[in-house]
Amino acid sequence: MSLPLQKEITLPNGVKYEQPLGLFINNEFVASKNGATFQTINPATEEVITDLYAADEADVDVAVAAARKAYTQTWKKMSGDDRARLLRKLADLVNEEREVLASIDAADAGKPKATNVENDIEETLSVYYYCSGWADKITGKTVENSPLKFAYTRHEPYGVCGQIIPWNYPLAMAAWKIGPAIATGNVCVLKTSEVTPLSMLYFAKLVKKAGFPPGVINIISGFGKTAGAPLASHKGIDKIAFTGSTATGREIMKMATINLKAVTLECGGKSPSVVFDDCDFEQTVKWALFGIMYNQGQICSATSRIYVQDTIYEKFLEALKKESQTTSHVGDPFDDKVDHGPQVNETQYKKIMSYIEEAKKQGIRLVLGGNSPDKKGYYVEPTIFADVSEDAKIMREEVFGPVVVVSKFSTEEEAIELANNSEYGLGAAIFTENLTKAHRVAAEIESGTVWVNSSNDTDIHLPFGGFKMSGVGTELGEYGINNYTQVKAVHVNMGSRL
Ligand code: ADP
Repeated sequence: MSLPLQKEITLPNGVKYEQPLGLFINNEFVASKNGATFQTINPATEEVITDLYAADEADVDVAVAAARKAYTQTWKKMSGDDRARLLRKLADLVNEEREVLASIDAADAGKPKATNVENDIEETLSVYYYCSGWADKITGKTVENSPLKFAYTRHEPYGVCGQIIPWNYPLAMAAWKIGPAIATGNVCVLKTSEVTPLSMLYFAKLVKKAGFPPGVINIISGFGKTAGAPLASHKGIDKIAFTGSTATGREIMKMATINLKAVTLECGGKSPSVVFDDCDFEQTVKWALFGIMYNQGQICSATSRIYVQDTIYEKFLEALKKESQTTSHVGDPFDDKVDHGPQVNETQYKKIMSYIEEAKKQGIRLVLGGNSPDKKGYYVEPTIFADVSEDAKIMREEVFGPVVVVSKFSTEEEAIELANNSEYGLGAAIFTENLTKAHRVAAEIESGTVWVNSSNDTDIHLPFGGFKMSGVGTELGEYGINNYTQVKAVHVNMGSRL
């Protein structure tokens, strides 16, 4: 029997709702053309939540055609003011439905509901409201050089945007992509991660309810190779925006060459925290821990390498361990006291545990954790390794879990050299009360974001993007808005004669 397009689900906290299972194309939920389906699993219980439809190339074709038609026939004619109103309405509906949306992600992604998904919802709302503010302010410039020429620029949308998101922030990552695209007059086909597809299908219902014309926002579920790749290589897609691993980012960039798509990539990281001995010690310990352990360490800009000045090294390690022991509550994502849930799935869990096992085998000093609690679910304890050498695998590679490596430095020059000793360049945190030093070091760090005296307190009003192998282009802030427009120069001859 074929799968229905919608079904009633009761989540572990008792929330009962209608979960769409189809692909959201043209404001309707539809089955995949070949009937392919897949399952999504609750990582806390290891049980299947539901089966749902999976897109492949044929479905991508339909979604792209729907988006193109919407762009040329309706969306291009909308005013910025109308786009702003629709975005605000969408955000209002997300707010109204926040209990259902947060509960879905707590179950589907294992994110602690009260201490984590609620923040995602707040960020999601902020992004849509922020972008709605831009929608009627997309303007060019007049360029006045000669009285014989009237010239101006227009910031035009690309047209149809393909968007591929990961599983660590299903709602917020989508907002980072849909918000700016829609504000600037583009339409989109967004592919969710096969690991966490459910909340964005529920969100799709709100897209229709908000009054978006059919085809403007399309949301498809499916796998990277069968649904993501056809999107990245589709000739009907004008811009591709991706967040995920660096390996996949490179593939996307290659595929995008088919029609020279505009490309934005947010990829991996191995971001450093640099702790000077003149820092506010207590606050630094808290931020350094938050910077790696929040969201179970599943953050691309997690500050997963901590370099501490040798004068306070052992004291810092002891305090970091104590802070984790007293503040981290590992457990059921639906328990309000829990701030550390399971990793998102078995693959990630096994990958993280293999990094930990290898580090242990190499005799690297284990300060805290290093185990998986003996219970159902893909849980990994907050883990701290110390005295880690620069060439250790766990120092070089992105673990994408609650695992931090700590090592020491003595001078400012050495700290900068160590912080920059990575192929990645997404984020970095500097801790010092000496502001001259903070600005000096911030300028030397090779990364798209530098936090001074905090870590990973991402602000949607600022650009977020990677240097080096961490990405291409930026999202968020005015820069992120501009990344969804292409500039056209219009020259008007005011009397120059040949
Ligand atoms: P992770 O390893 O953290 O899951 P990925 O880069 O594999 O990160 O996945 C991020 C997103 O990219 C997901 O939506 C996934 O389906 C998609 N994806 C994976 N491989 C490809 C690919 N070859 N082409 C396009 N999209 C892909």
